[in-house]
Amino acid sequence: MTTGPATSAPLTLATPVQFLKGVGPQRAELLAKLELFTAADCLFFFPRDYQDLTDLQSVAELEPDKLVRLRGTVVEIEMRGGYSGRSMLGVLVQCGEGAAADYVRAMWFNMPHMRKRFEHGQQVLLTGKAKKKGGRWEFSHPRVQWLEQEEPGDAERKILPVYSLTEGLHQASVRRAVQASLDGCAALLDEVFPPEFLAAHNLLPLREALTQIHFPTDRAQLEQARRRFVYQELFILQLALAVRRLRLQVDGSAPQLEPTAKIDARIRRLLPFALTPGQEQAIQEIGADLSRHFPMNRLLQGEVGSGKTIVAVYAVLTAVAHGRQAAIMAPTEVLARQHARTLGKLLSESRVRWTTLVGGLGTAERREILAQIKSGDIDVVIGTQAILQDDVEFAKLGLVVVDEQHKFGVRQRAQLRKAGQAPHYLVMTATPIPRSVTMTMFGDLDVSTIRDAPPGRMPVKTYLANDEQRERWWEFVRKKLREGRQGYVIAPLVEQSDDPEDDRASVMRTFEALANGPLEAFRLGLLHGRMSNDEKEAAMAEFAAGKTQILVATTVVEVGVDVPNAVLMTIEGGERFGLSQLHQLRGRIVRGTHPGFCTVFAKPSTPEGLKRLEAFVASNDGFELAEVDFKLRGPGDLLGTKQHGLPPLRIADLARDEAVVAEARSDALALVQQDPGLTKPEHERLRKQMLKRYGAVLELGDVG
Ligand code: ADP
Ligand code: MG
Repeated sequence: MTTGPATSAPLTLATPVQFLKGVGPQRAELLAKLELFTAADCLFFFPRDYQDLTDLQSVAELEPDKLVRLRGTVVEIEMRGGYSGRSMLGVLVQCGEGAAADYVRAMWFNMPHMRKRFEHGQQVLLTGKAKKKGGRWEFSHPRVQWLEQEEPGDAERKILPVYSLTEGLHQASVRRAVQASLDGCAALLDEVFPPEFLAAHNLLPLREALTQIHFPTDRAQLEQARRRFVYQELFILQLALAVRRLRLQVDGSAPQLEPTAKIDARIRRLLPFALTPGQEQAIQEIGADLSRHFPMNRLLQGEVGSGKTIVAVYAVLTAVAHGRQAAIMAPTEVLARQHARTLGKLLSESRVRWTTLVGGLGTAERREILAQIKSGDIDVVIGTQAILQDDVEFAKLGLVVVDEQHKFGVRQRAQLRKAGQAPHYLVMTATPIPRSVTMTMFGDLDVSTIRDAPPGRMPVKTYLANDEQRERWWEFVRKKLREGRQGYVIAPLVEQSDDPEDDRASVMRTFEALANGPLEAFRLGLLHGRMSNDEKEAAMAEFAAGKTQILVATTVVEVGVDVPNAVLMTIEGGERFGLSQLHQLRGRIVRGTHPGFCTVFAKPSTPEGLKRLEAFVASNDGFELAEVDFKLRGPGDLLGTKQHGLPPLRIADLARDEAVVAEARSDALALVQQDPGLTKPEHERLRKQMLKRYGAVLELGDVG
């Protein structure tokens, strides 16, 4: 025989895909682009989606607004309007054959790119809700899946896997490679969980789960299979995090910095106000951490203005009271200088010596500061990332506070560790983080949350409005302006696009319209990202001084702006903003001495968009809104995806699988408590998997 290794040779997990039945060298090259090199790779190449051919409806069975699935053939494609303006795409789909043939229409509005995806004769699966229009059932923006030519075996399969592909590769080829791997070597895989564990946690055994995740018998089995892999992925991660925490506690030696009664009293004398219950609680938790002989690793979260700075200052002064140095790191120089001012005021009566360390210092000046830090003459260093540089040496660093850095990942935290005793860490963020994310991406941290606000916060009323309510709102705004108040008008874009619908979304057009219309009698300012820094500062200063009454701006106004007299917030094009952004904007008008009023003009084009806006109106709680946003939109940029330093999750979805996250976390903690080094033989495989995936990034080293 000349065909290379005999195809009848038994498969192993390491068999190259080329030798799988029906693959061959050419397809193997394509599979390699998907990083599928061996049979084992195929087994763990999970489908990205499924085509569910169970419970298909016929046209005769349709009912208005009921969610249905239909299968049919594309017979007519009609496109009206163009690529730039408004457009309508109609696709006529034939369901059933011959005399039984019936037709439905699928419609897409203003999505011209959809046109390219359809061809006559395609087999499609439509999922959506239909309405009857002029005697024909119509689907508006249904979900479409394109079916391939039927393959042998497809007929019995009712739920088909859909894999990520690469140019030139068909679903059928991947399905075949996966099937061959399952048939040939799924039996060779070892189960990672002990049998009792599987039973106790109601998890499908590995082999069964693999078969079901690729070629499910029904929806319920698919769910079971998916649950098993989601659980496994999250459990391994939680194991790694639990082991890491334990390690830091056992190995890490940090100075014990207990805030004794005497220290506590001394610090409180410096504070200009009584602390809120949330601040007290955070200080308690931090104090307990600082008192221990291993490093604190704590995330302090609380919305903008909840008063995190003073909590950090308390920790800093505790460290200093114990003769240790502390560093406060802010993401920008502006923030670093702001902290320096705050601290400077508080410490004016004390003997604490502090300095700022930022980027643009002169060489001599910098050298001088570094020498003082090294000799221990300086107690507190406030700065930017510049503090991380190698030449910065502390005499006796006891505490590092990192502000506004929820994206500060595991890796960066490791970088902060300097030789000798490890310092305590406090990381602060004003971005409310959904629970399932804190439990995973920040799972190596303990979390303190400040939920209340300092006294004197004004309530804000929020309204969702449409164009017809405009005149009434501007009437109200004029009344408030005459009473001496000020306000913001926010638009998402600087200039308008070609679409006349976008007029209101443009800050320039909004400004022109207001200045020549409803607010012509008032003084308006303009602020957006295309202005020079000087222009921006001038615009801000005029508004802060009350010279302008209304500031028409883009979201540049989001950060760092604090004008207590501004109590009116108008948001145009509200559907274009994320929920947390809307909440941030509203946060601009709660600092004042008068109640605030926020109105969002919006035309949401999707049900999710509407839900988002309704949630915004209904809640003033940033944490609650973060959860809603997360459920509707997924993690988005919240995590800065790669920055947290952990490898991406392959199957778990933190928004969808929140319950599993919590379950996996408590199970992992329990297991690590019972077998801290995972040294028991039945945990051998779990330990290996954990080390393989997280050993390096989480510095788990030689566990076990
Ligand atoms: P953030 O949590 O956004 O960092 P800050 O620490 O900057 O908030 O505090 C916001 C404002 O609230 C500051 O002006 C601060 O002085 C003030 N503040 C903080 N805590 C209290 C309190 N307990 N009572 C009164 N004002 C407070
Ligand atoms: Mg702050």
